[in-house]
Amino acid sequence: MPAPVDQLLRPFRALRSKLREIDRNSRRTKRDAFDRIQHVSFILGAIAAPFIVAALEDGFTRTRSLPLAAMAAFERGGEPGVRVARVEEEDLKRPIAGAFTLGQVLVIEERTLHGWPFPTLELVAPTTLEITLLPGVREPRRAEIAAAANALADADGLSRRTTDRRIHVGGWIFSIGAWWIFINLAVAIGLAPIRFGWRLFRRGRSVIRQSRIDRCHCPNCGYDARGSILTGRCPECGSDLYERPEY
Ligand SMILES: [Zn+2]
Repeated sequence: MPAPVDQLLRPFRALRSKLREIDRNSRRTKRDAFDRIQHVSFILGAIAAPFIVAALEDGFTRTRSLPLAAMAAFERGGEPGVRVARVEEEDLKRPIAGAFTLGQVLVIEERTLHGWPFPTLELVAPTTLEITLLPGVREPRRAEIAAAANALADADGLSRRTTDRRIHVGGWIFSIGAWWIFINLAVAIGLAPIRFGWRLFRRGRSVIRQSRIDRCHCPNCGYDARGSILTGRCPECGSDLYERPEY
């Protein structure tokens, strides 16, 4: 190998030999059935999470309506026809000078967020008008007000005639991540008491067996095996008289 390449690889080789040394001197962690279940849930969770998020897109929705604009509908004495004008929402109830107020109009946009915990899809519905007639104004005027308000909304670029679908990529990514965490947490929490009980059982069993060994009894059946120490086998059940305790 040419010298410069060798020079370049040297730090990596040093790192590799260091890692090997660490590996040689590390205590082996024994993986038990619980660890394996957790590993399986880690992988299955990653596969299942997108499907759960997709299913919740239909199953979990919340709708918000927000007013895009407020309008006052009025008519002036002597002039025919309904007029509308944009006003601030808090000024809706204020009378307009020199005019007879007919009612109030709100241009409403309805947004529906789909998905949980983060919205993955947003539907923006066509805008609607919410018309409130003042007392004394006859019902047939509603259509006239609506026509005038629609014209003004169109002119101001507020109207929406079709439903707008917006896919939230960030919502997808974060929802999948959240569900992956939920699944793993649920498995870990579900396993914890069983895991703890099992460990307790093993520890207790180990203590009992060790105390039998200490008294020269068979660790398996408790038989007094003082006479069989040299053979190393229990005459009663045939199991080993000497063993390492398990912790
Ligand atoms: Zn025995």
